[in-house]
Order: sequence, then structure tokens, then C-alpha cells
Amino acid sequence: MNCEIIAVGSELLTPWRQDTNSLFLTEELNAVGVSVRFKTIVGDRRTDLAGAVRTALTRADILIVMGGLGPTEDDLSRESVAEALGVTLRRDGSLVAALSARFAARRMTMTDNNLKQADVMEGAEVLVNPNGTAPGQWIDTEWDGFRKLVMLIPGPPGECRPLFEEQCLPRLRAVIPERHIARRTLKATMIGESAADALLAPIYGAYPDVETTILAGNCEIQLHLACAKTTLEAAKARVDDLAGKLEEALDEYLFASQGETLEQIVLFYLELKQATLSVAESCTGGMLGERITSIAGSSRSFVGGALVYSDALKIAFCGVEPELIAEHGAVSAPVAEAMSHGIRRRTGATFGIGITGVAGPGGGTEEKPVGLVYIALSDAQNTECSENNFRGDRQKVRQWATQKALDMLRRRLIQYR
Ligand code: AMP
Ligand code: MG
Repeated sequence: MNCEIIAVGSELLTPWRQDTNSLFLTEELNAVGVSVRFKTIVGDRRTDLAGAVRTALTRADILIVMGGLGPTEDDLSRESVAEALGVTLRRDGSLVAALSARFAARRMTMTDNNLKQADVMEGAEVLVNPNGTAPGQWIDTEWDGFRKLVMLIPGPPGECRPLFEEQCLPRLRAVIPERHIARRTLKATMIGESAADALLAPIYGAYPDVETTILAGNCEIQLHLACAKTTLEAAKARVDDLAGKLEEALDEYLFASQGETLEQIVLFYLELKQATLSVAESCTGGMLGERITSIAGSSRSFVGGALVYSDALKIAFCGVEPELIAEHGAVSAPVAEAMSHGIRRRTGATFGIGITGVAGPGGGTEEKPVGLVYIALSDAQNTECSENNFRGDRQKVRQWATQKALDMLRRRLIQYR
């Protein structure tokens, strides 16, 4: 069954307030096998709201309208939903009594506008809201010949959340068929989004029951797979089956098959192969070390490194020959290689990485443009160096450089024994 969430409130259409409730609701709905097909945010205007509700009824089995249940003039959800569903509102005597009691208990006078919070749609059940004055409503009804489950729930997060969990979820579970969702995230790097999709679309296209989403960002491609079935085993089997084929197609570009970060994978392999790493960073200014050390337990494999920004420090700390810099320039393959050798020898690590490049925005020349980064990886036997032309601003160039360095090490570690 699919669901639409309508978040009501003009404040949610400003830059200052966000609809955060729907994130929580989506998580809870997914957990019982309901997928959210649409989210709508609508301001406090009755015609807009009734229109949004009618549209939602044409395309969703389950409709959650949240917010707009308060006592003020701009709280119009009850009226609009009743209008769209074609049901009347009746004032519930026991709710009026409960409201009065609530005010009396706080020694406050209840103004008349509060009374509309006691209005209930014909055929609806009242959802008790112990945390506020406005109760929710649940109606299991027919609209245009189709069964619709419609919920009205309060907007304040402190009311919305407990009310949904305590009142809506048990009712939902009782009427919707049991569904379980299996999920997996695959990650690849050093392959473009369009190239990845061209490669993968024919494969995931053959699995219409598995929802596949490709996301690109942070120097990686993520593939999110989700499948809903009556049992978790059946859902998992489909997701794993598709994941296996996607992994095979992505081949060397794939680095994570369970959502792990590249840093985690590299550290996993370092530990598995009982190898250690040290880094000498110039243009990345410690970003590589930062990425690695942000993972708990990295001390088991990461020795440390040096931030050798100036030529003098590359020479003094990493033992780079001054002639090498004079002949090739600080941004060059020989210097990157010498940095990786120097830091490895100095620290006694299995692997050394050296990074030197032009991060920009200034400092580029025709011969050595902004984005040119040399990354060297060495161990006692082998040295490899990549020449890269990364695009983007200074931060992106630096991010890509650390990503490439980690990926070179990952690929090397897979072969390493
Ligand atoms: P209402 O129920 O429309 O009177 O909303 C009361 C308050 O709840 C608003 O001022 C917001 O601060 C908050 N609120 C309403 N809807 C949401 C939402 N979808 N996500 C987060 N906060 C909300
Ligand atoms: Mg409101």
C-alpha cells in the first residue's frame, strides 16, 4: 500500500521552518511495509488544502494530513479533509468536556475557538492526544469506490510522534497486509553517474519489484535498493539477487556492498592484510589523515603522517631530493613518489602515500593547471603514481584527491598478500 503525507502550515513554505515530521513518519511507515509515494507541503488556505487532499485521494491508499488541527483561524485541516471526503463534521460532546477539563485543570478560561478541536468527521475514530489539546482522527472510508485510510494528526513534533506511534501504527498494522522491507546500499567510486546508470539500468530494470535509486555525491555513487515482500526472507532474497548482479557489473568500481564508507573498507583491508599506512600530504592539508582517523579503531593500521606543504618541509621531513623539486617542480610525479617513499621509511609503515597538487583557485599554469594532482602509493617493492585532473573548486579538488588516494590503496590491498 502506498501513502501520501500532507504537511500543513504556511510556515513550512518559508525558509525558516522545515517539515521534519514526515521524515520520522516515513521511517515508521517503511518499517511496516508502507512506502511513501508523495509528500505535499501546503499552506494554511482552505481551497489549497482541500485541493491537495483531493489530489492525494486519487493516488494514495493511505493519507496522512498533519498539522492545522489547532484552535486558530488558520487551522483548517479538519474542515478541508471533511470537505474533500464529502463527510460532515459533528461536535463531540465528550471531547468538549475533555477540553473544558483540560483548561480548568490549568485554571485557564477556554475561548470558543477551542471548540472546533472537538469537531469529528462522520465515521472517524478519535485519536487521543495526551500531549496537546487537538486530538487526531482516523477514518477508514471509501472514496470514489476505493478504500482509503485517512489520518489527521497534530503538527507539533512532540505530539505528532507519540500519537502516530501509539494510535496510528496499531490501527495500520491491523488493516494492512503484512509487509517487510529489505534494503541494501552499494557504493562505487571513480565512475560517473551516467556511466554507472548506463551500465546498471538494464540490470535493475529487470527487477521492477526492487526499488533502485542512484545517488551521486561526495565523490561516490550510491545505489539504494529496497524491496517489500510478505516475509523479510523473500524481500532479502530479491535484494541480494539484484545486488549480486550489480556488484558483478560494477566490478572494480564497487567498494562497498553494505553501505560502508571508503575509509572503513580501506581500514578493513589494512587490518586483514596486517599492513600499516602513513601519509605525506601537501595540497590536501591533512584531509586524508582526517578521513582515516575519523574511523574508530584506525590506530590499529594508521601510523600517522606529515603535512608537508612547503618545499623545505618536503625535503626536510620526507627526504625529497632538492634536485627533484628543482627539475620537476613540487607538483610532479617524482616528488609525489619521493614523498610516499620518505614517509614510509621514516614511519616504518607498510604503505606510504604522497599527495602533491594544485588545489586552486590560484597557482595554476598552462603546464600545471588547477586540479592537477599527483598521488603516489608505495610499499617496499612497488611504487605507483597517478596523474589526475580533478575539476571543481579548491575543496572539491582536495576531496577528490583524498578519494583517489584511498581508492588506489583499496585496489592495491585487494591484490596484496
Ligand atoms: P499546527 O499543528 O499546524 O498548529 O502546528 C504547530 C507547530 O508544529 C508549527 O508551528 C510547527 O512548529 C510544528 N510543525 C507543524 N508541522 C510540522 C512538520 N511537518 N514538521 C515539523 N514541525 C511541524
Ligand atoms: Mg499550523
